Amino acid sequence: MRKKMVAGNWKMNMTPSQAVQLAGELKNTAVNDEVDVVFCVPAIDIIPVVNEVKGTAVKVGAENMYYEEKGAYTGEIAPDMLVDAGVEYVIIGHSERREYFKESDEMINKKVKKALEHQLVPILCCGESLAQREEGITLTFIKGQIEAAFADISAEDAVKVVIAYEPIWAIGTGKVATSEQAQEVCKAIRENIRSIYGDATADVIRILYGGSVNAKNAAELFAQEDIDGGLVGGASLKPEFANIVNYK
Ligand code: PEP
Repeated sequence: MRKKMVAGNWKMNMTPSQAVQLAGELKNTAVNDEVDVVFCVPAIDIIPVVNEVKGTAVKVGAENMYYEEKGAYTGEIAPDMLVDAGVEYVIIGHSERREYFKESDEMINKKVKKALEHQLVPILCCGESLAQREEGITLTFIKGQIEAAFADISAEDAVKVVIAYEPIWAIGTGKVATSEQAQEVCKAIRENIRSIYGDATADVIRILYGGSVNAKNAAELFAQEDIDGGLVGGASLKPEFANIVNYK
């Protein structure tokens, strides 16, 4: 009922010419009619990658966006710039941005709203640190992140958001969450959405898992009831990404 999605997060990798080469390789292999495939690429790679994947089913996403329309915000990128360049998705609130660039829940909420205003699909990231998991506050912490990110967003808009549950301790570490751990949190997130918006939204909204997803663990993770695909970092830069897209 919910279409699966596999989104690559290239992070700060790939020069424009490298990006064209990688996109050119993956566009022919990362193909599965049952999966929405998205390459989220560095801002400078957006236009060449959009041109490279034209005519295929691959969609292009940005890794970040600012929440103002335009003006004196040196170095930032506005939503209409992304739309005009051919972007359809935007990662918002990745843990690296929360940690290194001090993005707050309030800023993330503003970005989600602004993306939706421009018909960009936000891929909204949430997830706990190892310390929070060990303290036993994972579900409470993530509930807070979800409530803050969705503040003042209508049900009509909320359903368009893609949520990515990414435990920080699993990102780039090779230490993947077990399918039970990932399912437990993704289910809890769906219940959070249900309590804010009701069944119609909760049953339709897509929730991805991210954190050391690879070709070996994707099938088991994506088979979980509340996991609708993956947000993939390291493996999105390799031919392996195609095997993740074709996980079954
Ligand atoms: C990410 O950064 O979103 C991510 C999931 O990274 P990795 O797959 O490398 O853990």
